[in-house]
Amino acid sequence: MDKTIGIFGGGQLGRMMAQAALPLNIQCTFLEANVDCPAAQLGQVISTQAANAIHDFLNSADVFSLEFENTPLADVDVLTQHKAMFPPRQALAIAQHRLSEKALFDQLDIPVAPYRGVDSLESLQHAVQDLGLPLVLKTATGGYDGKGQFVLRSAEQIAQAWAELGPAKSLIAESFVHFSREVSIIAVRGQNGDVKTWPLAENHHHHGILSHSIVPAPNSADLQPLAQDYITRLLNHLDYVGVLTLELFVTDQGLFANEMAPRVHNSGHWSIEGAVCSQFENHIRAVAGLPLGSTELIRPTVMVNIIGKHPRTADVLGLEGAHLHLYNKTEREGRKIGHITLMPTHSEQLTTLCRQLAQILPEPLALHADIQIEL
Ligand code: AMP
Repeated sequence: MDKTIGIFGGGQLGRMMAQAALPLNIQCTFLEANVDCPAAQLGQVISTQAANAIHDFLNSADVFSLEFENTPLADVDVLTQHKAMFPPRQALAIAQHRLSEKALFDQLDIPVAPYRGVDSLESLQHAVQDLGLPLVLKTATGGYDGKGQFVLRSAEQIAQAWAELGPAKSLIAESFVHFSREVSIIAVRGQNGDVKTWPLAENHHHHGILSHSIVPAPNSADLQPLAQDYITRLLNHLDYVGVLTLELFVTDQGLFANEMAPRVHNSGHWSIEGAVCSQFENHIRAVAGLPLGSTELIRPTVMVNIIGKHPRTADVLGLEGAHLHLYNKTEREGRKIGHITLMPTHSEQLTTLCRQLAQILPEPLALHADIQIEL
């Protein structure tokens, strides 16, 4: 092996990074609480429970990265005294706190919904007065997949919202954005400052979890350059290395940034088959200091998450133009355990595939047969 990359976290993102690394003679190791994690089949897992976990992890690799944005900064500080880590600590620290993230978007002139920091019942009342209703109250740290959120629709709910989220101490209140759709832009920056961006994905959620992404996002020709400009500002400002994701709302007033993820992202899984170089391979290339690959689209693609229960493998593989990715995870309600990439060659085939897939997937899914992509 030419190089070893140590990754914080050993979930499906780490697994897919390691899968992309192997053909480049790059090995991954993982620091993870669950030694039986999805990445375990691909490389050594160092248990976070081990007495010298960070020390062992430090010795296991040449350079470090992450698949988990809540990677403890204290651990990063120990590692980076000795070896390099990408993305940089600063990007991670900002992404771990919604208020710092919003402040950075403001600083770089990336539009966001009006917001206020909230740390008391009184400041929540002020935020409601300033921003109006409805608004979305979120914990500033630790939230994911819509957890740690409360949509405040009337002033009578203020006490309840505070009772539910107040103990988190640091909150953010955001004006409710009446968006027409949600999209994400994923980009990669190399150690030499090269930036490459994948086409926008249009993201659809079911019970707060990503259910499927359509790439390129339909009718996004005007949005792509703007989204690309926003993410490039972030990458350059942070002197970022690796893959970064920016989630955006599409509104009548243009694009509003929601949040960034300093890592590969579920809405980029389509790129394994749909792009010349996937988000996983390009992340590995960037972290290893190698030239970046082309992010060009091979073919419009729909990525569908497998949530909660596995479909029958043969059923999925029986669909022409479908690729199956399983993460070796046990079934549990609401858990992402795999994904399917649909690569139809014409629109009628996509309609048929969506219809067939909706029948095959055990979970009722908000997957409509009327997904339109330009083929
Ligand atoms: P987040 O955890 O910030 O990604 O939010 C989860 C989901 O909540 C988003 O994907 C949106 O669907 C919704 N959401 C978040 N913030 C807002 C907002 N300010 N206005 C309307 N919907 C929002």
